Amino acid sequence: MAETKKCPYCSEEILADAKKCKHCGEYLDVTLKTKAKPQETKVVAKEGCFLQTLNVGCIIIAVIFVVIILIVIIASL
Ligand SMILES: [Zn+2]
Repeated sequence: MAETKKCPYCSEEILADAKKCKHCGEYLDVTLKTKAKPQETKVVAKEGCFLQTLNVGCIIIAVIFVVIILIVIIASL
């Protein structure tokens, strides 16, 4: 037997571990409700762009580091 509870929005009987009410369509899981907002998706996209910029910065730093190591090796010869 699956445990049930009352939906806080429409008072219909729903499963205790339900993420979304099957009667009124309201999200019972707060994290899912936040993800459903279109504004949140824009923030995630901005974070993705920031991470891409960070990756490019890391590659440039890595290239500079390799060049410095090569200069040190050539100088020591
Ligand atoms: Zn409901």
